Amino acid sequence: MLTFTFLGTSSGVPTLQRNVTGLVVQAAGARDWFLIDAGEGTQQRLLKTGHSLRSLQAVCITHVHGDHCYGLPGLLASAGMAGRTEPLTLVAPLAVWNWLVATRECTDLHLPYEVRHVDSALQPVVWQAGGVCITAHPLRHRVDCHAFGVEVKRETERLDTTAVRATGLPPGPAWKALQTGQDVEFANTVLRSADFVEHKTQRVRAVFGGDNADPSMLRATCADAQVLVHEATYTQKVLEHVGPGPMHSSAQRVALFAQVAGVPHLVLTHFSQRHHNGEGMAELETEARTHYQGQLWMAHDFDVFELDEQGQLHRIHSELNDEGHEQE
Ligand SMILES: [Zn+2]
Ligand SMILES: [Zn+2]
Repeated sequence: MLTFTFLGTSSGVPTLQRNVTGLVVQAAGARDWFLIDAGEGTQQRLLKTGHSLRSLQAVCITHVHGDHCYGLPGLLASAGMAGRTEPLTLVAPLAVWNWLVATRECTDLHLPYEVRHVDSALQPVVWQAGGVCITAHPLRHRVDCHAFGVEVKRETERLDTTAVRATGLPPGPAWKALQTGQDVEFANTVLRSADFVEHKTQRVRAVFGGDNADPSMLRATCADAQVLVHEATYTQKVLEHVGPGPMHSSAQRVALFAQVAGVPHLVLTHFSQRHHNGEGMAELETEARTHYQGQLWMAHDFDVFELDEQGQLHRIHSELNDEGHEQE
């Protein structure tokens, strides 16, 4: 019901293996999509995944640090050059908006479409349309920073064909009418659509964190979520070595929180470049597994995940082979 694609999984700077943060979120099967964060180089990544800038509904920026937003002006400019005319929603702290306004002015950037700013600090529901609801949740970081909760809801109607058949009504347009909410006259009685149609609402929810020193800030919003995507910039040892200044999380800190909160699926991302080699990633993963018994993934660029209607998470695409190396 919901898919998400990692465009970048590195913190601070890009490396050969990993770009800085960017993530595509999409209701499964939909053309429309949402972007969470736009680090430098995000539009290059999107050329590879094939997401059209004309179908982009909203960009949600967690915070003003460059590894999360330096790709934004270029991406907006390219959307204009691709002929976009529909308005675009930008969910972001005021600092990002002010920077974008200044950049547009200083670089003579004229967009052929309107960018509508929604301040993530001012309202909890930042997007609601087309069965997708996005909410913003404050985090603890050096600057104003928000996580985004994404809920996808789908209503389905199923005709109880056994019950309809039992009335003797022959299959055909009358069945279709019952299914679409119309009552039908048959054999001197009225068959009420409501008696034969079963309405079902399916709902899934994932929480996408920004930079954050305190995962417990997400306790309430994680209560009904099947997935938490969260930064694990360092191992606990490195975090203690660098001190509290950067205000990031260790793998241990996130894992402990996810375990207590009972989140069934945890995806870690935003890794410091010192951990990008095989050994460093294995260390982060082992540390997380020590404290978390749910299903754990370490995100890699271009990984695609799908959250199905049962609330189960699957990695449906990866560029890595079994040994963890990039495929040729
Ligand atoms: Zn960051
Ligand atoms: Zn940051």
